[in-house]
Amino acid sequence: MRLSRYFIPVLKENPKEAEIVSHRLMLRAGMIRQQSAGIYTWLPLGLKVLNKIANIVREEQNRAGAIEILMPTIQSADLWRESGRYDDYGKEMLRIEDRQGRDMLFGPTNEEMITDVFRSYVKSYKDLPLNLYHIQWKFRDEVRPRFGVMRGREFLMKDAYSFDLDEDASRAAYYRMFVSYLRTFERLGVKAIPMRADTGPIGGDLSHEFLILADTGESEVFCHSDVMSLPVPAENVDYDDDDLIAGIVKDWTTNYARTDELHDETLWDEVAEGDRMNARGIEVGHIFNFGTKYSSVMGAKVKGPDGVDHEVHMGSYGIGPSRLVAAIIEASHDDNGIIWPESIAPFQIGIINMKAGDAACDAASSRIYEQLTNAGLDVLYDDTDNRAGAKFATMDLIGIPNQIVVGPRGIEKNEVEVKRRGEAEKFTMSPDEAINKFTS
Ligand code: ATP
Ligand code: MG
Repeated sequence: MRLSRYFIPVLKENPKEAEIVSHRLMLRAGMIRQQSAGIYTWLPLGLKVLNKIANIVREEQNRAGAIEILMPTIQSADLWRESGRYDDYGKEMLRIEDRQGRDMLFGPTNEEMITDVFRSYVKSYKDLPLNLYHIQWKFRDEVRPRFGVMRGREFLMKDAYSFDLDEDASRAAYYRMFVSYLRTFERLGVKAIPMRADTGPIGGDLSHEFLILADTGESEVFCHSDVMSLPVPAENVDYDDDDLIAGIVKDWTTNYARTDELHDETLWDEVAEGDRMNARGIEVGHIFNFGTKYSSVMGAKVKGPDGVDHEVHMGSYGIGPSRLVAAIIEASHDDNGIIWPESIAPFQIGIINMKAGDAACDAASSRIYEQLTNAGLDVLYDDTDNRAGAKFATMDLIGIPNQIVVGPRGIEKNEVEVKRRGEAEKFTMSPDEAINKFTS
């Protein structure tokens, strides 16, 4: 992308309304614009990152055997009356009446709807296990929407739902999602620690939250420092091997790791003082196993091998891609701006033409830009006539991980400078070497 033809409405001033660094940087980098409290337009740069995050989430869900669908944002109140949650959900639910006078709502989550989909089609244990997910906007009328997209009212969620014949199979499904979350966060370039969690209004007895450590996190976390160095399973991990998957979950859940909600001082005292980590964290994922809570009231049954109908055992598995954009910035930035992990950077490489209009600089920059783009890389070429200093500041602010600087003096000697965002060292090389560095 040529910056002169793109749309990155960078702000020079620090926005007053932003209390935390990710919100400030997302506004300054022209990623989002607030439309109402907790409701945002995603501008091109923000949307690019959001889509990259959602795609990694999608790939890892698919790898773990989940199947993508898309349910609507607007739901009928009648489904929620079946589970009893229409009344229970309270003021967080945005209720809508259509022209026929029917009660509708903007979905805050989809347990009821997915249970309805399931009961309409699946009648036999032979169709299990089944895990269906979607990546869809949710609305929760939060009391205090704040910190930008970190706690929005409208936000993107990946929510998966597993269906199994019995508790053991359901637990295995839960473990597969647990492992897929470990892989997902690793690929997103962040460390998210699974912590035992409360099941809350969703119900059930098995639940973990995944938290990214950051000073601005809303939760206080207490964990054994060993969890920071546990290995994340590789992409060829065998999801069909229940014992292997359960073993990985065991390794990740043996050490003490809880948020303030479930913190237990007695257990905490058993952790050696030198191993205790007390920090703040941001919840970016939450998984639940809730058994037959919805299937029993909504009549979702399958015929088992014994010829008898069984209420299906379920779990639900959420990740917030829109919150993740902010959470990753909280975990990865410096005084100059965002430092994107390579996997989700809006552009992998930025080219700074220090003297647009200079024939040699233009020619070299264009050539590098075209060759890298043709090689399938996502490249942002700053071809504007802004001052060089402003160009450097913008590339750093928006967090482009690799930068190639083309200047008039260097190009005379057939040289450009290559540097990584967040690192001081610059490498001088020829334009061809720079191209090779990223394409070979
Ligand atoms: P929180 O405790 O932060 O309010 P929650 O426990 O209500 O979140 P879940 O129902 O577990 O959230 O939703 C699954 C995921 O959706 C969360 O882990 C988070 O990543 C995301 N999420 C939930 N609420 C919001 C929100 N208001 N804004 C952005 N993302 C959210
Ligand atoms: Mg939660």
